[in-house]
Amino acid sequence: MFARSALLVVAALALAACAASPTGRTQLILISDSEVNRMGGQAWQQMNAELEPSRDRAKVNMVNCITEALVVQLDEPHAPEVWEVTVFADDMINAFALPGGYIGVFEGLMNVAEDQDQLAAVIGHEIAHVTARHGAERISRHQATGFAVNVLGGATGSQQTAALLGLGAQVGLLLPFGRAQETEADLLGLDYMARAGFNPAGAVKLWNNMAQASGRGGPPAFLSTHPTSDSRIRDLNNRMPRAMELYREAQARGLRPACDMPR
Ligand SMILES: [Zn+2]
Repeated sequence: MFARSALLVVAALALAACAASPTGRTQLILISDSEVNRMGGQAWQQMNAELEPSRDRAKVNMVNCITEALVVQLDEPHAPEVWEVTVFADDMINAFALPGGYIGVFEGLMNVAEDQDQLAAVIGHEIAHVTARHGAERISRHQATGFAVNVLGGATGSQQTAALLGLGAQVGLLLPFGRAQETEADLLGLDYMARAGFNPAGAVKLWNNMAQASGRGGPPAFLSTHPTSDSRIRDLNNRMPRAMELYREAQARGLRPACDMPR
């Protein structure tokens, strides 16, 4: 009898917790948005307290310009005015976004993302991790399986990433994402950038550049928090016709962001 009622409780919980992601994928969400956003805000404060902000005005302006163009395209409840952005003075090739509306870009990323379209691809991808509630999903999965969220901290590659993870890992928001979440962030991010008037072809260039950087001096930190797969470019290319349509529509509406740094 006990087992049966316990099963019913689990079934009821699962029912209550089942959500659908923006691409229609079923998600287990056991934590409220307000709680996840609070955790995001905490991690954000901690990172800003421990890392140096960039003093490179051109880079900061570029990242702000791209982010502003992207976030005005988001649907409720992701209002444009909630997003905060910091460029960090660090050579790490990485970027992240946190629930609650926080975007961090490391200067080193801008050596790999060479123009506004490629950088918009990364920032759009990061924003999609937030809008698709991937942090809440990950925390929920760990809660459901009874594991502490920080047990995965040691599973990542570079030392830099480990240090970065140390700042956010205790809240489970900066650990590597799974493949389904990566694919979803790619596809949503591609839509976001196209809707904002950035050329979606930049996304494919970006991932090729990441792969090349990977060959040069070990894998970029970005790849250890955003595991890639061989099918990534293929999936992006499959979505490209639709993204190009969105891009042309945006351009026709006058959305032509000019965020590139003066050369
Ligand atoms: Zn990702």
